[in-house]
Amino acid sequence: TPLPGGPVFRNAQIFADRVALRDSIASYTYGNIFMSANELSKEITKLVNGRTNERIVFLCPNDANYVISLWAIWMSGQIAVPLSPLHPKNILLYYANDTSSKLLITTPHYADLMHRVSRNTHSRLHILDDKLKLNCAQKIAQTQRDLEGGRPLEFYDNNDALILYTSGTTGSPKGVVLSHKNLQCQITTLLDAWKWTSNDVLLHTLPLHHVHGIVNALLCPLYIGAKTIMLKKFNANTVWSYLLGIGAKPDDRKITVYMAVPTIYSKLIEEYKRVFKDDAKMVEYIRNTLKSKIRLMVSGSSPLPVTTYEKWLEISGHRLLERYGMTETGMVLSNVYDSDREPGYVGVPLPGVSVRLAEDDEKGGEMKSVIECSNSDGAIVFKKYKSGNPKGELLVKGDGIFQEYHNRPEATRSEFTSDDWFKTGDMCEYSTEKKKFKMLGRKNVDIIKCGGYKISALEIETHILSHPDIKECVVVGIDDEEWGQKVAAVVVPQNDKEITLESLSEWAEHKVPKYSIPTVLNIVSSLPRNSMGKVNKKELIKTIF
Ligand code: ATP
Ligand code: MG
Repeated sequence: TPLPGGPVFRNAQIFADRVALRDSIASYTYGNIFMSANELSKEITKLVNGRTNERIVFLCPNDANYVISLWAIWMSGQIAVPLSPLHPKNILLYYANDTSSKLLITTPHYADLMHRVSRNTHSRLHILDDKLKLNCAQKIAQTQRDLEGGRPLEFYDNNDALILYTSGTTGSPKGVVLSHKNLQCQITTLLDAWKWTSNDVLLHTLPLHHVHGIVNALLCPLYIGAKTIMLKKFNANTVWSYLLGIGAKPDDRKITVYMAVPTIYSKLIEEYKRVFKDDAKMVEYIRNTLKSKIRLMVSGSSPLPVTTYEKWLEISGHRLLERYGMTETGMVLSNVYDSDREPGYVGVPLPGVSVRLAEDDEKGGEMKSVIECSNSDGAIVFKKYKSGNPKGELLVKGDGIFQEYHNRPEATRSEFTSDDWFKTGDMCEYSTEKKKFKMLGRKNVDIIKCGGYKISALEIETHILSHPDIKECVVVGIDDEEWGQKVAAVVVPQNDKEITLESLSEWAEHKVPKYSIPTVLNIVSSLPRNSMGKVNKKELIKTIF
């Protein structure tokens, strides 16, 4: 059993001789990583002249160096700001500047790049020893009592741990400050809800600068003593090999958990169609293998198209567990692990999280809530309930919620109600029949106001995506003098199939209300997506319309 409370690395003391990580080079036990991180933490302490609570930016590939650096930063009492190799240089600079980080840490591979960032930001650069990882793997795991490092436990009760930047889908990315307590709460909630054990093996293919990749898919397994197989980056072919245990080392064939964003599942489906689809034996083998080996497959970070859910179910026998969360809140809503999952729905509040659906007051007064509920030991308890399918902006309360936006007191203030509910900016509906929540999209981007109607772009996208000749699609509202906004679809056709506005309207006529049918169509060869697979709709509108 993991130790309650304290920073994540503390549990390495219990799991010292278990394998924590496997990357492209080696396997590392919890003890190995703890000791290497502890050594590095002493160097960090020297580099910051013994101060604590310094923001430290680090850029490492998705491998053991990442975890060693993260733990070392925490052990020396600093705040970690992870950068991603996927970020362009201007974003790296933006993060380093925005956090006024005085120390940057990186591996030799990114030394040139980070030298430039360090010159531009007048911060010190520490380049990790090339042998750090290798030495780490060779260290002999120590017994529990030998693993001592880090600051006194109380330190972690009161201090910040991490600054994660939002994806920048709706504006420039904001630095979200999370305390050690926030992280602990987010982690332990998910460990319980998704029934993690130390025997789990997770295949990690997500970027490590975002709540999904870092909290859900890395800190959760590290906290509970499970094993993480870390790939440098997502590649559909490699992931299929790992999921099926082909080519992988015998020890790495036992993957039990996989987490990804919807576009990753689409890419896996495409690869499946390309490689396996016509081989009946293989099709059966894949279904049987995935179903029997893997216990949990999660999707999140953006809406999971119903078509992707259904296709994945057909291929793998797995009903993807969709959940909803944000950088600011960690995970909020989730389908229930051992109960039915419904495509298009994100489930119910996780234990310890309270949610509200609230409507803006037209006269500018307090928001009016239509639903308020929380999860008490698995039972959803309502404080306020309006029958039917009430809709509203999703508000959240709970111990996992962030401290503040770094250096943006105004933004922090405006995102909370006067009674301390965090306003997610996402519109949501509660279905009385399904007893589940459904995301309708972002209040300012996805809710299209057309001739007095409020239309959810997400709902139209779901229907358009079920068109056999359409591969990808986003729906946006574009300003219109007569209607306020017009519904516009930006579509990537399947295999160069021809799509016209007329054929799309005809197709949509039986699926969505007439006023929701797109009246503008734009065909593109691909959609611009960020590293989390998200489309910045505001940017897209600017470039296309
Ligand atoms: P920014 O805040 O900079 O505009 P962002 O909101 O995309 O970027 P994140 O914190 O990474 O940054 O993403 C959280 C958002 O992702 C949520 O507010 C929601 O809009 C969306 N999201 C996450 N999971 C889901 C889901 N399962 N269904 C629909 N939307 C989701
Ligand atoms: Mg956001």
